[in-house]
Amino acid sequence: MAGKAPLSLNVGDVVELRKSHPCGGYTWRILRVGVDIGMECLTCRRYVMVPRSRFEARVKRFVERASGEPEAE
Ligand SMILES: [Zn+2]
Repeated sequence: MAGKAPLSLNVGDVVELRKSHPCGGYTWRILRVGVDIGMECLTCRRYVMVPRSRFEARVKRFVERASGEPEAE
């Protein structure tokens, strides 16, 4: 397949997104991984679901990895 390798995601990962939530927060904890990604804003605790493709476009970096190898920069 061409393009970037799919992002490896685990429930419990904490990510920083490029755009802030309306509450001003940038960090989210992944609570569900599938076609849609369910995540909780760590600033206001709101839960949202976004399509995986949109989520991948918005991730800036991983703050914390729930399991597995830390990703190389
Ligand atoms: Zn928020």
